[in-house]
Amino acid sequence: MTHINIPPDHPRAESLTIREKLVERHLEGIVAASGLIAHGRGEAFDYLLGEKTTRPASKAIRAAAAMLLTAENPVISVNGNTAASVAEEVVKLAEIAEAKIEVNLFYRSLERVLAIKKLLEKAGARQVLGVGKRASARIPELRSERRRVDPRGIMAADAVLVPLEDGDRTEALVRLGKKVIAVDLNPLSRTAQKATITIVDNIVRAAPRLVQAAQKLKEQGVEKCREVLLNFDNRKNLAESIALIDENLLKKFSRESTRTVSERD
Ligand code: ATP
Ligand code: MG
Repeated sequence: MTHINIPPDHPRAESLTIREKLVERHLEGIVAASGLIAHGRGEAFDYLLGEKTTRPASKAIRAAAAMLLTAENPVISVNGNTAASVAEEVVKLAEIAEAKIEVNLFYRSLERVLAIKKLLEKAGARQVLGVGKRASARIPELRSERRRVDPRGIMAADAVLVPLEDGDRTEALVRLGKKVIAVDLNPLSRTAQKATITIVDNIVRAAPRLVQAAQKLKEQGVEKCREVLLNFDNRKNLAESIALIDENLLKKFSRESTRTVSERD
């Protein structure tokens, strides 16, 4: 069910197609209304990053793959936007890293959880945690519905991949001693700042790259993963992403001012 016809040669075709998909998934009860707004916030940062996977993002993706592969009990936390955008990649990554998949929502309802579970199963997931009464454990100090977690999943995890997370929960998970990998286009958000590894990239681009990196590192072995992790500095990496936004803005500004001058001539 597509509502508008997006011409393939439209300069923003890719971004419009993603929007359409999210709107459809919203109508199906998978993406929350606020998920659409959150996507808009992400788009703004993506624009400033040049809508591509940057060098610092690639480095963070490799480190994230290494962290998942070396974890004892890795878990991928899935919300509506993540399921709507990259369900297949989530399933592939879980297989490669032997990670569990858990649904965790800010706006939790049994219908939404079940709809997301169904979508993940359609993409090949064999087990989906966090469904119904199974989400019986609580993350201390969190008030939103996101505090409900599965005792076999996030509660027992040593490393959690949390795409499109909010700052509160990232902080709470870190306080519980978990390693947190965030995917967030906004390098300034609390999520980005608090996570152990932050991938500043669009989940749509980052997820397939994460699958590829995990596949390759798995072949290279545990020692290689340890080396990648030792050489990764999240603070430095975030600073590099922020510097890139700065550069892009400066470039744009100088282009605009040159045009104004030549137009005046
Ligand atoms: P925080 O609580 O961490 O400060 P926030 O309140 O800014 O975060 P929310 O609105 O709770 O964030 O969640 C949306 C976040 O997800 C935004 O920071 C946005 O940049 C990011 N985001 C949205 N869509 C995507 C996407 N497709 N890929 C990566 N990040 C995204
Ligand atoms: Mg928030």
